[in-house]
Amino acid sequence: MQVLSLYHATTTALHCLFCGTAVVPDALDDEGLPEACAHTLFIAHPEGCEYLAPALEAALADRGYTLADGTLTADADAGDEEDEDDPFALLTGMPFPDQLVVIRSAGNPQGLEIWVGFAPVFD
Ligand SMILES: [Zn+2]
Repeated sequence: MQVLSLYHATTTALHCLFCGTAVVPDALDDEGLPEACAHTLFIAHPEGCEYLAPALEAALADRGYTLADGTLTADADAGDEEDEDDPFALLTGMPFPDQLVVIRSAGNPQGLEIWVGFAPVFD
């Protein structure tokens, strides 16, 4: 997995590098909603998840996590509590080859951050 952190790109749309779809609109406070393409693993932020690819949702379910109302919740038999406390680690810890994660941060004072995970091939 590679992580690309952007601190000065808050007015730039994020496009999928595999197909060119504008997955995240051109501003964090844009009225437009993020729109996943076939290569989008997740669209999330520190407060919750907006989108999980079915393959990622299945991989998380195998580890005992379910998504409800934008929040990943550990089932009673889920693994490690450290993962539960760190949704970023949980989202990016699944075995998708060549995963690329973009973190777009608006910095202070807005403090807005969005995380988008991409992977070239998955079902
Ligand atoms: Zn794509």
